[in-house]
Amino acid sequence: ATPTAVMVATGVGASNGVLIKGGDALERAQNVRYVIFDKTGTLTQGKATVTTAKTFSAMELGYFLSLVASAEASSEHPLARAIVDYAYHFHFFNKVPTNQGSTKIRKDNFYTEWLLETSEFSALPGRGVQCLVDGKAVLVGNRSLLTENGISVPLEAENFLIELELSSKTGILVAYDGSFIGVLGVTDPLKREAAVVIEGLKKMGVKPVMVTGDNRRTAHAVAKEVGIQDVRAEVMPAGKADVIRSFQKDGSVVAMVGDGINDSPALAAADVGIAIGTGTDIAIEAADYVLMRNSLEDVITVIDLSRKTFARIR
Ligand code: ADP
Ligand code: MG
Repeated sequence: ATPTAVMVATGVGASNGVLIKGGDALERAQNVRYVIFDKTGTLTQGKATVTTAKTFSAMELGYFLSLVASAEASSEHPLARAIVDYAYHFHFFNKVPTNQGSTKIRKDNFYTEWLLETSEFSALPGRGVQCLVDGKAVLVGNRSLLTENGISVPLEAENFLIELELSSKTGILVAYDGSFIGVLGVTDPLKREAAVVIEGLKKMGVKPVMVTGDNRRTAHAVAKEVGIQDVRAEVMPAGKADVIRSFQKDGSVVAMVGDGINDSPALAAADVGIAIGTGTDIAIEAADYVLMRNSLEDVITVIDLSRKTFARIR
């Protein structure tokens, strides 16, 4: 393609809200064989909502939610925001007294009076969060987080989790003072265009793949809804780039579509990195393309534009 053709394509991209960072990326996209999609915030709306909260201990639900939300209050993870929001509404509408015993209440502002004072907070990427409340450990996260801390999950709770996961929800486990105490279920709906775009890619001869830190069962349930057969689940944040490299091994040209901080190494490792416009700055930085309309349809625009610009007989 001539420099003029590249310029024209860049203009066509821009008018579709597709930012193209350079002609090399534009050229590579025509030969994409695999498109690896991040799940949360890329295939899904990234608007997590808690649908279920259940205690598996004598602890009262209001206090359980206070504990969980207090642990999550310092986290920036989308799941954390969903949990804090749910606990806020629960306390607001139920007017449940939170303070059981001597627990100190955080005094940040009026609407967080049910949040408890925490210390030694840490975010554990790909697993959850931990902190202390009244000197006792609170863990909120996935199975690995509890297992690593030697906490076992009772069969009744495990069955409850499986049910959640089979219906595309992410199960979040909670432990307090060394024991498992309950579960939350979080849903994050698919983007409306997701299934149609996956179908479109398949018709173009491109293979869609899903990569996620989420658990296997939830990942497969979501993948099934959207029409993706190849799923890489329970991938640690640093592992997403390895997934990209594994697909590149046979010389295949690989595109990655993502939005999160976690996705930036994979976006950089991919031959074609595509960031969602509402994604984190670091993801946008690492990508070759930015989709300003936040529509997955523009993944097809990217490949189409490249194919048309570098028109070959295919
Ligand atoms: P994704 O690939 O969807 O971006 P992450 O790597 O951020 O996933 O997280 C993987 C999993 O770790 C989540 O599905 C969740 O089970 C758990 N997790 C991560 N952060 C949190 C948190 N703040 N609270 C609860 N669970 C979390
Ligand atoms: Mg994401």
